[in-house]
Amino acid sequence: MPMHAEDLRRFLSEATGKPVDLKMNNNTHSLVSARPTPFGIRVSLHRMFLEGEAPLFQALARFIHRPTPEARAAIREFIALRHERITEARAAGPSRAIRGTARGRRFNLEERAAIINRRHFGGALQYRIIWGRPLRAGRRQHHVTLGTWNLRQRIIRIHPMLDMPGVPSYMVDFVIYHEMCHIAVPSQASDTGRMHHHTPEFRALERRYPLFTRAMAWEKRWISPMIAAWNGGPPLPTSADDGGNPETPSGGPPESGGQLTLF
Ligand SMILES: [Zn+2]
Repeated sequence: MPMHAEDLRRFLSEATGKPVDLKMNNNTHSLVSARPTPFGIRVSLHRMFLEGEAPLFQALARFIHRPTPEARAAIREFIALRHERITEARAAGPSRAIRGTARGRRFNLEERAAIINRRHFGGALQYRIIWGRPLRAGRRQHHVTLGTWNLRQRIIRIHPMLDMPGVPSYMVDFVIYHEMCHIAVPSQASDTGRMHHHTPEFRALERRYPLFTRAMAWEKRWISPMIAAWNGGPPLPTSADDGGNPETPSGGPPESGGQLTLF
């Protein structure tokens, strides 16, 4: 049941504490615009926003009053979802059930992701999250992708090596957060058609993660030992869990040459 424009106007007035003059439109070039007037704020919104829910309306109110990256992200996510629903309805192919589980030995991805979604994105992101499937044993990896976001399937996949003992929970959370930033800040095509996934806006949002520096430091120190452990080498010391202790895993110095990709 879409919201009534007058109800939305009243909500925005109350939330911003200013008289809001609201116009709904079907203009696809300007989905949201707000400008102050001597009497309050003049807002123009695309009709599709009437089909949103409470978190979206709160994001709109914040955006109108004083835009924050989170508010922009929530609005953009809503728009992206709408676009996708339209194109998916057009494409309506065979149903594709994706198998996979969020439960690992150590970490339940669904639980962790829900907290991150709530805390950093106002609960606005829509996704499924599962552990990726491990590659066949014997296939050595020196280049790993720790997480992926598939826009068409709306699935975040996390590499199962992050479920190994010794990997700190904040590293897992950071990889989840990184993938969520991809949901919030869609990739952009340049004039030449090249896709840019890690735009400056993306990087700015990524750096807002409270444990960003700590996760980066852990990654720098432990990515190679982690890949080695995944390939059957010495397990990570569980003291690596705290992220601060630069111990060498038993069995000699870690292999070098590991490379990390977050995508
Ligand atoms: Zn990425």
